[in-house]
Amino acid sequence: MAYDNDNIFAKILRGDAPAHTVYEDDHTLAFLDVMPQADGHTLVLPKTPAANIFDIDPGALGPLMCTVQTVARGVREAFPADGIRISQLNGPAAGQTVFHLHVHIIPCLEGRPRTPHATNMADPSVLAEHAEQLRAALDRLSGA
Ligand code: AMP
Repeated sequence: MAYDNDNIFAKILRGDAPAHTVYEDDHTLAFLDVMPQADGHTLVLPKTPAANIFDIDPGALGPLMCTVQTVARGVREAFPADGIRISQLNGPAAGQTVFHLHVHIIPCLEGRPRTPHATNMADPSVLAEHAEQLRAALDRLSGA
């Protein structure tokens, strides 16, 4: 699939659009989803431009999944969760709405339904608070 350099995640990666960033390294960036399915819903992106799982250099997948594990540990610590859902959508038929590859990390609670995908915009001040909580958990886990 052709990669659109003006998709919202490309803009965030360039610093041209804001994000509640919680983690960054040379290969990946993680920030909170603005329409979270649950408190702490986080997205992890490779920095390399790729619309979906089929378009990415396989060598970029290792660093991406390492960051997914790191951030998922932080999410599990910072937000109440009986389980953590990790998902990644490819193509509109699968529900993908932003065409820069990303992995969702979503804390799940027994008996509590998740908010439907990409529906309710969260209050930015709540997201800022959640990002702070998650960054603090990641610092604790890394021993920083
Ligand atoms: P997908 O449908 O898998 O492509 O997921 C895209 C996700 O990006 C959805 O969960 C949206 O809520 C989320 N999203 C859209 N725009 C932004 C944005 N500017 N910052 C953070 N998350 C976003």
